[in-house]
Amino acid sequence: MAKRDYYEVLGVPKGASEDEIKKAYRKLAKKYHPDLNPGDKKAEEAFKEVNEAYQVLSTPEARAQYDQFGHDGPAGQGFGGFDFSGFDGGFGDIFDMFFGGGGFGGGSRRGRRGPVRGADIRYDLDITFEEAAFGTKKDIEVVRMENCPDCNGTGAKNPSDAATCPVCNGTGEVSQTQNTAFGRFVNVRTCDRCQGEGTIISDPCPKCHGRKKIRRVRKISVTIPAGIDNNQAITLRGEGQTGELGGPAGDLYVNITVKPHKLFKRRGYDLHCDIPITFGQAALGAELEVPTLGGKVKYSIPEGTQTGKVFRLRNQGIQHLRSNSRGDLYVRVNIEVPKRLNARQKELLQEFEEITGETEQRKSFFEKMKDAFGV
Ligand SMILES: [Zn+2]
Ligand SMILES: [Zn+2]
Repeated sequence: MAKRDYYEVLGVPKGASEDEIKKAYRKLAKKYHPDLNPGDKKAEEAFKEVNEAYQVLSTPEARAQYDQFGHDGPAGQGFGGFDFSGFDGGFGDIFDMFFGGGGFGGGSRRGRRGPVRGADIRYDLDITFEEAAFGTKKDIEVVRMENCPDCNGTGAKNPSDAATCPVCNGTGEVSQTQNTAFGRFVNVRTCDRCQGEGTIISDPCPKCHGRKKIRRVRKISVTIPAGIDNNQAITLRGEGQTGELGGPAGDLYVNITVKPHKLFKRRGYDLHCDIPITFGQAALGAELEVPTLGGKVKYSIPEGTQTGKVFRLRNQGIQHLRSNSRGDLYVRVNIEVPKRLNARQKELLQEFEEITGETEQRKSFFEKMKDAFGV
C-alpha cells in the first residue's frame, strides 16, 4: 500500500508551524490511542501512522529531508536515518501530554527476553456534580494479575525446581538454519519446550499452579481534585499491571464521568442556572432565592427585569483545577406567564391593561409594521 503523505496524515498544510503540527498530532494521537480504542485494529494502524508522521515532521532535520525527498529519502535509499522501531520513548511523550506523567508499555516490542512494562489499566468512575466541584476521595477496586507471593513470581514450588531450559539454553528462542537455492535463511522461533520462558519448572507452585501470577482485587484510594470535569482522567503511576522480568508496573487511569446536576449546567468552570420568576417580580423587582453550590443566597433583581436576562454572580462557579480562582454563576430569569387565572385575577389584569395603554416598545413596533405594509 502506498504511504500517505505525512502532512496529509496529520491534516496540516505543507508550511505548517511546529505548533500547528503538535496540536494536530495531539488531537489525532488522542483520538486513535489504543487505550481509548481497545481491540480496534484500524485505530491502532492510524495511531502508528500518526506517530510516524509526527516523528518526522517534529524533527527539523527529518522534516527538511522529507520535504525534499518525500518517503523515498535521499538517493532512493528509503527514508533512512530515523529509526521508528524504538519509538517507545515517544509513546511515553504522548502519555505525558495526556495524563501528566507515566511511560507506556513498549518493552515487549524490543525482544522477548528484556524487561516488559506492565499493561495500563483503565477504570471508569462515576462521581456526583458536587464531588467534582469540591473534590473527594474514593476507594475503587481494581483487578490485577500480581506476582504470586508464595513463589515470588517464579512459578516453582522451590527455587531449585526451576531450571534453565536445556533446549534453548534459557534464551527462549531456537534458530534453525536452512540452505536454499536463494541463500541461507536463519529462522528464529519461540522455543517449544519452555514456551519462550527460558526456564522449565519440574514442580510448580501449588498456589499459582506455575502461572507465576495470581488474580488479586486491590482496593485503591483515589484523590479526586476539586474542579475535575467530565471525561478527564486521573493517573496513578505504577498502579497498573505488574511488569515482567523486572519491568516496571503499568499505570492506572481513572476516567471520570460526572453525573449531571438538577439545577446547574457546567461550562468550563462556570455554572449556568435558569430561574422562573413571575411577571409581578419582573415588573416590580424582587429579592430572589438563588441556588449556589454553597446553598441558597438572596439576590435582588431590579424593577423592569426582562425575561431571559442573565445575572452574573462572581466566584460562585467551580474551583479551578490548578489555581485558587473560581468560575462564575450565571443566573437566567424566565418570566412565567400564568396559564390558569381565576375570575378575580382576570379582572385585575384587565384593569391593569386598561390603565397601562400602549408601551413605547409596542408603539414603535406597530409603526414599523405600518411602514412595512403601508397600512
Ligand atoms: Zn526453551
Ligand atoms: Zn506461585
